[in-house]
Amino acid sequence: QRLVVAVDGPSGSGKSSVSRAIARRLGAAYLDTGAMYRAVAWHCRDQGVLDDPDAVVAAVQDMDVVLSVDPDHERVVVGTEDITEAIREPGISAVVSVVATNRAVRELLVARQRAEIDAHRKIVAEGRDITTVVAPDADARILLTASAEARTARRAAQLGGTVEAKDLAEQVSGRDAKDSTVVDFMSPSDGVGLVDSTELDFEATIEAMLAEITR
Ligand code: C5P
Repeated sequence: QRLVVAVDGPSGSGKSSVSRAIARRLGAAYLDTGAMYRAVAWHCRDQGVLDDPDAVVAAVQDMDVVLSVDPDHERVVVGTEDITEAIREPGISAVVSVVATNRAVRELLVARQRAEIDAHRKIVAEGRDITTVVAPDADARILLTASAEARTARRAAQLGGTVEAKDLAEQVSGRDAKDSTVVDFMSPSDGVGLVDSTELDFEATIEAMLAEITR
């Protein structure tokens, strides 16, 4: 039986680690669409074309990217370069909205994401526009949210205290503000279940998500 689970949410909501864990439990593939946007940003920066929208689109068209959909093995490769770690750097988070706000880039990536989803019998796909644009007909659609405070605290824990709390709050809310100019992921659209993880730990969040999926 086919199962497509779509998960959206802002940065720091825990959607990547939670979606990965859910995919493991369901024996499903895991598609991190944010990693695709990050890979595009990395590639365009590498090619020196970030400030030229048309060159960005051309670079995405020619881009040879391989993204692992195994929830146990995170791996992103562009050409011959393994950029799994590089795409998580703050320098990429800071420029990723340049490519994510480019309509033509989104169209190209949405098409690739749909193809990837179609290629698997069971898959958990996660991002900002999966429940609304990429897979609006998914079997389960969930928006995972958390308060701005909780999201900033989680990002801080992830980065291990290398960034000032105030700077981090600005980075997180700044990226969400830029991102929500292209897609609305702050409130659930019709038929999308809402899970608020503010008061939930990791395990409780997974339970709440699985309850939504089997509902
Ligand atoms: O999920 P993550 O924080 O890694 O996503 C990185 C960036 O990719 C987001 O800030 C957003 O600009 C973009 N993105 C998007 N649509 C998606 C997934 C990510 O625009 N479906």
